[in-house]
Amino acid sequence: MSQAATAAQAPATDALLDVREIHTYYGDSHVLQGVTLDVKPGECVALLGRNGAGKTTTLRSIVSLTPVRRGQVSFGGFDITRWPTHRIIREGIGYVPEDRGIFSSLSVREHLDVAMWAGKQTAERRDEVLKIFPRISERMEHFGQQLSGGEQQMLSIARALLTKPKLLILDEPSEGLAPIIVDEVRDTLKEVKGTGTSILLVEQNVAMALALADRVVVLSQGMVQFTGTPAELEAQPQIKDTYLGIA
Ligand code: ATP
Repeated sequence: MSQAATAAQAPATDALLDVREIHTYYGDSHVLQGVTLDVKPGECVALLGRNGAGKTTTLRSIVSLTPVRRGQVSFGGFDITRWPTHRIIREGIGYVPEDRGIFSSLSVREHLDVAMWAGKQTAERRDEVLKIFPRISERMEHFGQQLSGGEQQMLSIARALLTKPKLLILDEPSEGLAPIIVDEVRDTLKEVKGTGTSILLVEQNVAMALALADRVVVLSQGMVQFTGTPAELEAQPQIKDTYLGIA
């Protein structure tokens, strides 16, 4: 944690990420209405909910892409609520957006080089990350537009991992992918978790999320309706039915 961070110390907590009662607006529209969740070191937390529940807005609020109007986001015990996004990323949060952020005319190598330079990382670190992504390492000279959806997703995750984040945040990594590729992404994320990286995952694919998550947070209309383990969620069919649309 940088020295500057000590100026805004948050209350002590054992969580790596601690989101407390955040309220976020788009204009007059009050989208997040007091969202509270946390991610502990080494843990994978899945944020679930129907379309429009506020999942993406929660992730964007955590990394300051959308401003939080009230409430607090702490990371590693420090209040990061109003930090600029680049500083939050530098402090150890990797963010994989829903659109993957892949440029059609940049090669795989160039995507990784840019992230390497921006994050002051070495080629050794790049090669270490690429060991988890064999398919990407075979396509270093391919352009973004030549990659399949699954390869783009893998590149987006690899890029976020370059800076050794303590927490990886992913917005719907399975979206638009064939089931067999979803399984590959799931297995890759298991491997990432195995390295000790914490994960906060937004997913519409509930089966994939439950296969990865230690805990689940269910959101509806910008409010948390449930927090618990996958087994606790399984034991509450009315939550699954009402807020996730599955029995
Ligand atoms: P989805 O699964 O469809 O992506 P979500 O749970 O991620 O849904 P959000 O994208 O966070 O939900 O959207 C929450 C609410 O905020 C929705 O009502 C949405 O229409 C609204 N919203 C999202 N982005 C904007 C924006 N840029 N301007 C205005 N309203 C927005």
